[in-house]
Amino acid sequence: MSRPSALKTVLSTASCKLTRALLRRTGRGGTAVPGKVAMKVAPDILKATSQGMEIVVVTGTNGKTTTCNMAWHAISECGRDCLLNRSGANLLSGITADLTCNADWRGRPRTHYAVLECDEAALKQVVPLVRPRAVVVTNLFSDQVDRYGGVENTLAEIRRGVKLVPETTLVLNADEPLSASLALGVPNKTVFYGMNPSVGVRGDVDLNDAGVCPVCGKAYEWDFHIYAHLGGYRCPGCGYGRRTPDVEVMSIEDLTALGSRIRLRTAEGERDVDISLPAVYNIYNAAAAVGAALALGLPLDKTLSSLSSVESSFGRLETFDLKGNRLQMILVKNPAGCNQAFSYLTSLEEDFTAVLCLNDRTGDGHDISWINDTDYEKLCGDPHLKKLYVCGDRKEDLDARLEKAGAPGEIRQIVGDYDTLLGLLLEEQRPIFALPNYTAMMELRKVLSTATGKKDFWA
Ligand SMILES: [Zn+2]
Repeated sequence: MSRPSALKTVLSTASCKLTRALLRRTGRGGTAVPGKVAMKVAPDILKATSQGMEIVVVTGTNGKTTTCNMAWHAISECGRDCLLNRSGANLLSGITADLTCNADWRGRPRTHYAVLECDEAALKQVVPLVRPRAVVVTNLFSDQVDRYGGVENTLAEIRRGVKLVPETTLVLNADEPLSASLALGVPNKTVFYGMNPSVGVRGDVDLNDAGVCPVCGKAYEWDFHIYAHLGGYRCPGCGYGRRTPDVEVMSIEDLTALGSRIRLRTAEGERDVDISLPAVYNIYNAAAAVGAALALGLPLDKTLSSLSSVESSFGRLETFDLKGNRLQMILVKNPAGCNQAFSYLTSLEEDFTAVLCLNDRTGDGHDISWINDTDYEKLCGDPHLKKLYVCGDRKEDLDARLEKAGAPGEIRQIVGDYDTLLGLLLEEQRPIFALPNYTAMMELRKVLSTATGKKDFWA
């Protein structure tokens, strides 16, 4: 596919920028529409507006946004200009909008680097246009089943994308058998990241998504577990199994509500690394970001030290100050992510209030049956849980699930709307953890942003 002509590039870029400016003037985010307009004029405009850039594309079920944020921060801390598609519009149209608005009026990119969050199914459309230096696949878990038709289909979608870019380095989670299998049968260079067996079990083990050996179809044997289906797997039939990580977490020295300290091994030896975001899953995200930085050839020391100053992104352990009280928001959209959030909450040993919000709109997936596969018993069994607010379109279903999980009636409260919820939260004295799914997060965040004066994400 050749690049669009100079005239088409100018027209496409101009229409993209103009559309975004108009949408923002009318108070809308303008995340995907400007890209659609640009592609109407020049369908492959992304090819021009990403020309010559060094790009990292991040895909996978959980941790995309945080991994992107960490990789972007590392590149920036190394003194390089870098674009990040922070809006969360991670389909072809949104990525086209961000890269085209990043270009000058002749369609030439204004930054040399970009970190792009990309939807799993959109990868095959995006990568042939931007020819990334690295594709990071964080992990694969059952998610939004009605959208892709299961985790094996999602893996196949990603594989279709990977096959289009044999020159791209794959940054893969060695401990996650589904995404790690993307390295099979392709010529791409790889950087594997993972945890040393000595790190030990850090959450609930659930092998439902582990699948079977992609080579011979036998069930895996396991040498160790970290959480869910992440750990040390090996096929007894053909010998396929976990690869030794290039970026390896040797130990977790400390883990608090503010972050963690780990010992990390790379080809340059072992270092102590501070990560300014809490929770074990963010250690994986940090290791993925380090893998991306290595694929780009960034200096290791600056990359590692950047992890101590990463700020949380939009709804991912984002912290709000409610009249001096702390509210942390954790986006949850599937059992694995939700269970990890519960592991984090229950590890903190402090009394807390939880807010659970569940919607079932297009951005969430209409099927909410995943709440039945989620370990609410773990949350509800925590003696530190003192109050539980339930909100969102499917609040009654969620409340019924929480009752079944053992949350007493006197601590549960269904709340009809977010303004009422905000009023209640402003009266709270305990730390608050809000766990909404996607569209519920957008609503809750809007109310919180207005109350606390935080900016909208596109401002
Ligand atoms: Zn096998």
